[in-house]
Amino acid sequence: MSAAFFKPRLLAPGPVEVPPAVLEALARPVTHHRAPAFRETFLRARERLATVFSVPGDDVLIVTGSGTAGFEAALVSAVPAGDRVLALHAGRFGERWAAMAESLGYQVEHLEAAPGAEFDLSEVAERLDATSQLAAVTLVQSETSTGALHDVRAVAELVRRVRPEALVLVDAVTSLACAELRPLEWGLDAVVSGSQKGVMTPPGLAFVWLSERAWQRSEGAGRAGSYYLDLHRERAKQAGGQTAFTPAVSLVAGLDVALGMLLDEGLENVWRRRAGLNAALLAAGGALGLRQFAARPSPAVAALVVPEGIGARAVLSAARARGATLAGGQGELAGTIIRPSLLGYADRYDAVAAAQLLEDALHDVDADTPQGVAVPAALRALAGEA
Ligand SMILES: *Cc1c(COP(=O)(O)O)cnc(C)c1O
Repeated sequence: MSAAFFKPRLLAPGPVEVPPAVLEALARPVTHHRAPAFRETFLRARERLATVFSVPGDDVLIVTGSGTAGFEAALVSAVPAGDRVLALHAGRFGERWAAMAESLGYQVEHLEAAPGAEFDLSEVAERLDATSQLAAVTLVQSETSTGALHDVRAVAELVRRVRPEALVLVDAVTSLACAELRPLEWGLDAVVSGSQKGVMTPPGLAFVWLSERAWQRSEGAGRAGSYYLDLHRERAKQAGGQTAFTPAVSLVAGLDVALGMLLDEGLENVWRRRAGLNAALLAAGGALGLRQFAARPSPAVAALVVPEGIGARAVLSAARARGATLAGGQGELAGTIIRPSLLGYADRYDAVAAAQLLEDALHDVDADTPQGVAVPAALRALAGEA
């Protein structure tokens, strides 16, 4: 196998395959971040980003850093220091926000669901009811570590009803430009994402939207200490097409092009395309005997359980030998699941290739793997027949 040529493919839920037009933009000469040409690109990228976030005007801030920097910026900028935060988690990213809030000195309460499971809404309601002086609730829409799509809308509705004073902070890192997300209609207060996922740009940028209520709540309040990630300073700057510190100018140029492509396709078409591609991956997995892990699957990633006798790690190595990088399970799921994804620059033919790749990698590890089944299953799913 090692002598063979295989085209490198990123089939992971971030970083993802980047369109050639975006790569071309990244390769252009570096502009100065205070020059008019950059200002124009930056303002356009912010406007496009707001459209992808389904929020008004130029409300989304661009932070230089990975998605985690974006979440930290949202937390320290919206939630006053030392306040009580309820972290809903059912996977690694939800846990990360709880650990982050703890390290920033918030009083953190945990509500945990089993990895891949949905939150029990009556349990959430009870917990909200029993938790007084709650400043914020954190949760993940697309929990990439388990492949689950959590019902942010339903949780936000509960918070609005039971604890109207609490802010709802949402990690939409892999759900942005992938699953339905309506911050205003759903009553959210912070939505965070990053460049290396659904917006098809290399890693290095985080995006944060805060509600008017969140801005007001934290205005003048004692804020948990961060100089770089204080969005109050950024907000004033970015409205004028500037940033407080030197931004990753080339990434912004690439982002602008990627967002233009997504908006040309149309946001709801993008959601539909990605849901279809992910359904194809799940169907291919199913035909190969790999069970879907999440109760309510996210369109961003197909978490598939590899039968015990085969071993997830071996399948990932076999896929890598064929040129493809898939994600595996994290933590206790490491030997159990694989997480192929077509979140980046991908169409139906990429789904067909990914299905065959999955079948070949499994067959490399286990000679009893059925053959000729993954692609037909993927095609049926793409036709809406699965
Ligand atoms: C990728 C990802 C993040 C951000 O991780 P970074 O490595 O900091 O970019 C956060 N949440 C989820 C659900 C993710 O998939």
